[in-house]
Amino acid sequence: MRKKIVAGNWKMNMDLEEGIKLAQSVKDHFQGKGKSNAEVVLCSPYIHLSSLRGLLKDSGIEYGAQNCSSEPSGAFTGEISCSMIKSTGAAYVIIGHSERRTYYKEDDTLLNKKTTLALSKGLKVIFCCGEILPERESGKYFEVVKRQLETGLFTVSENDLNNVVIAYEPVWAIGTGLTATPDQAQEMHKYIRELLSGRYGKAVAEKTPVLYGGSCKASNAGELFSMPDVDGGLIGGASLKCEEFCAIVEAAK
Ligand code: PEP
Repeated sequence: MRKKIVAGNWKMNMDLEEGIKLAQSVKDHFQGKGKSNAEVVLCSPYIHLSSLRGLLKDSGIEYGAQNCSSEPSGAFTGEISCSMIKSTGAAYVIIGHSERRTYYKEDDTLLNKKTTLALSKGLKVIFCCGEILPERESGKYFEVVKRQLETGLFTVSENDLNNVVIAYEPVWAIGTGLTATPDQAQEMHKYIRELLSGRYGKAVAEKTPVLYGGSCKASNAGELFSMPDVDGGLIGGASLKCEEFCAIVEAAK
């Protein structure tokens, strides 16, 4: 059975104090509750990462960044490298979020470079894919996700794929309050698993986690996570409130 994963994407929210308070509340919520089948990941802004190391030590909660540079080091003012992220103790980095694709024009080739670099530095990658509304409406969504995965991700070795989590996030559902129905999510997750199987074989496809993201909240998480190919969620807005986020994690257990 695949382990469920619930990852919070705080986006550009939470100053240092607010972020620490939120992480502490999430930690307190799960403290003493024993080992669970659901892994919890907090993807914070960079400024929180080094504080999360001490705060989340021995809590079983992982943390990660939301982006990384495509370059390993050097004269790239304002950038944060994969090695820097790794040095904070972070386990994960999100790559290919639709907000990076749309606002910062990150294309499949650049995302592939980031993914390859992050994996080579020992980070686990949450690789996002998903179609925009016109692509859904014109029936092109399978084609779009196939291209994003084949160009952005499927160059990595089978060994490196062990450190990849795929997040299917239909862009029309991100931050909009519109959620894919459980059947829509299942249909795409099953397709992603078929693509994985075609490239890496059935065994790899069966063990790679595929998360759903897009207006997932406590009230719809249970239904979404009960679908056979939905292995948890990447949670934006609802990850900013401890109670709501923890309820989503509970739904994944
Ligand atoms: C996200 O940012 O990855 C996301 C899924 O956002 P939201 O949950 O707010 O739709």
